[in-house]
Amino acid sequence: MRKKLAQDAKEIFEAIVERVKVLDPANSRRWFDDLAIKNFSGGLLEITCPDTESAGFLQDNCSSSFTRAAQQITGHLVSIKFSADGKLTKNKPSVSAAELRLHPDYTFDNFVVGPCNRLAHASCVAVSKSLGTTYNPLFIYGSAGLGKTHLLHAICRETRNNLPKVKMQFLSCEEFVNRFIAAIEAGSLTEFKSLYRTVDLLVIDDVQFLREREQSQEEFFHTFNALYDNRRQIVLSADDAPWQIPSLPERLTSRFRWGLVTRIDAPTYETRVAIVQKKSRLRGMKISDEVAEHIAGKVTANIRELEGALTSLYAMAGATSEEIGLDIAVKLLGDKETTGKNISITDIIKVVTAYYDVRPADLQSKRRSQSITMPRQICMYLARNLTNHSLEEIGGHLGGRDHTTVMHACEKITELEQSDDKIQSQLVELTKRISR
Ligand code: ADP
Ligand code: MG
Repeated sequence: MRKKLAQDAKEIFEAIVERVKVLDPANSRRWFDDLAIKNFSGGLLEITCPDTESAGFLQDNCSSSFTRAAQQITGHLVSIKFSADGKLTKNKPSVSAAELRLHPDYTFDNFVVGPCNRLAHASCVAVSKSLGTTYNPLFIYGSAGLGKTHLLHAICRETRNNLPKVKMQFLSCEEFVNRFIAAIEAGSLTEFKSLYRTVDLLVIDDVQFLREREQSQEEFFHTFNALYDNRRQIVLSADDAPWQIPSLPERLTSRFRWGLVTRIDAPTYETRVAIVQKKSRLRGMKISDEVAEHIAGKVTANIRELEGALTSLYAMAGATSEEIGLDIAVKLLGDKETTGKNISITDIIKVVTAYYDVRPADLQSKRRSQSITMPRQICMYLARNLTNHSLEEIGGHLGGRDHTTVMHACEKITELEQSDDKIQSQLVELTKRISR
């Protein structure tokens, strides 16, 4: 009899998990299959999770969908409690990932590396291998949805795995400011200071939030100095480069540049395909290469939107266990013919040659004078950023150059774009003309 009950509960639980996947595809993950029922009695369903991060994730993101699913399956009001598997968490260090609120998905393993983020990724890995000695501070910047927060979580996770005793704090700049204000109000400034000025690793996300907050800037400045002087690692992110964040004082922005400043760019087509594939595996969705390529071709703005498209796709497909076909992707995103502005490499060559007063044949020739090399490299850079063509294809259009030449050109122009105002404004103007 007992055994039978347990079996029933297990089946009910499996049905609940399946229902959650339908109700909440955005937050469903493949590891939901590893969840187990701990106890179900008196209207309370207790669920055992593989680790504290997943328990935290479920608690924060999935409580309501689990409650809803449980209600639909059992026909009763059910409350849910998530907890980590005791066996796994018993000997965990004092500051666990859950206390830091690390996202279970945001690991180095789950991060797809491409030309747009290679340097940022490599520097994060390097920092997590030797705190305080490689790049200090490490400053990562880029537009929204390109993976900054993901990388910061990964640094904390990796550090905690390698060095469980390390003292670290991870927080958004907004939290830092709010806690600072709360500490002033509560008269606990001494505790606040000693908490943040004595860690081995301080990670602060979105430091652009500091602008126009003078008192917090002051506190942050002293925190920075205390940590830096003691060779403790500081990692920062922002949506702009330090020198581009308006109304931050020089003494702060100059310190942000003491270590390494690295940028994340929008992902290229190949990287987007790889990300779609990785994310769908993570969610336990089956999609064909064709579908991944279709999504990557249609959704180009940022990675958060790519994930949004996957979620809609999953919802449209009705969370089937079968592979999602191209027909559904086309229904959702439209077909190939309607893609964006459809800028071609030929358009780019036309605009660039007119602008610099050179002939297309010059760009395709072997000539290496500066007056030719620069427009050629700019063509490569723009083609890389404005079209979905591969490095090989771009090289092909510019006199049959190989992909390493194109990559080198892109890197060089990227550097110039940051250091040379003249080039920067030329690039803006060219992009405008090409997009018209
Ligand atoms: P940001 O902090 O720069 O605004 P996030 O780190 O929040 O961006 O990233 C947005 C989403 O895109 C996250 O779900 C993240 O996992 C995903 N993402 C970004 N870059 C990558 C990448 N290279 N590989 C896999 N996922 C990525
Ligand atoms: Mg972020």
